[in-house]
Amino acid sequence: MADCIFCKIAAGEVNAKVVYEDADTLAFLDLNPQAPTHALVIPRRHIPSLTAAEDTDAELLGKLQLAAARTAKVLKAESAFRLVTNNGKAAGQSVDHLHYHLLAGRKLLWPPG
Ligand code: AMP
Repeated sequence: MADCIFCKIAAGEVNAKVVYEDADTLAFLDLNPQAPTHALVIPRRHIPSLTAAEDTDAELLGKLQLAAARTAKVLKAESAFRLVTNNGKAAGQSVDHLHYHLLAGRKLLWPPG
């Protein structure tokens, strides 16, 4: 999508510190990290949010989960990390391109704020 910052990162038009990539997904470090390790895992294809995903996206959503696990390994965080998506403005979503936050490297509180 033309105006989507994460589509631009996926296309290589905007710089990001990419830590994992494959044909369908990409993971890069968050610009404003909320933990010592904070990456964003996204599908290359534009899906606005998890609730916008359709049945035809099921395979891609599975790949996204695997990409997150691989990203955790690349970042040496596989033993303890949190994977979360903010779905909708009230939940904190500020970029309308589906993404999972992968957070690690500090004690993560529960319930989250
Ligand atoms: P959310 O608020 O859940 O939609 O998450 C969006 C995240 O994207 C925030 O944590 C931002 O810090 C991050 N972000 C926005 N623009 C960029 C960018 N160009 N490169 C890396 N992270 C970004």
